[in-house]
Amino acid sequence: MLLVSYSVLNTPSNIRPIADEWEWQYQGACKNVDPEIFFLEHGDRSVTKRKKEEKALTVCRTCPVIQQCLKHALSVPELYGVWGGMTADQRIRILNKKQP
Ligand code: SF4
Repeated sequence: MLLVSYSVLNTPSNIRPIADEWEWQYQGACKNVDPEIFFLEHGDRSVTKRKKEEKALTVCRTCPVIQQCLKHALSVPELYGVWGGMTADQRIRILNKKQP
């Protein structure tokens, strides 16, 4: 079932094509990789987590859309998992440096 607000349907300025904003994901080197290595248990500091992160980062290093992915992850911001060749901790450090 699709629920759409009447007010949203009558507000053309709110309607914009968002497919282009996500198109890059179809080119991601991770698209056929087990997502479990990219989305890890929050707060887990185990060796297993680091090994999974390293596997994910290795995939990212081959990715043709790494720049778009990192830009997205920092702008949303995505606070969990490996995105754009960076771990969540690495991205959070960058975001914290941008705070005034
Ligand atoms: S940079 Fe990494 S997480 Fe982002 S699309 Fe590429 S492989 Fe996937």
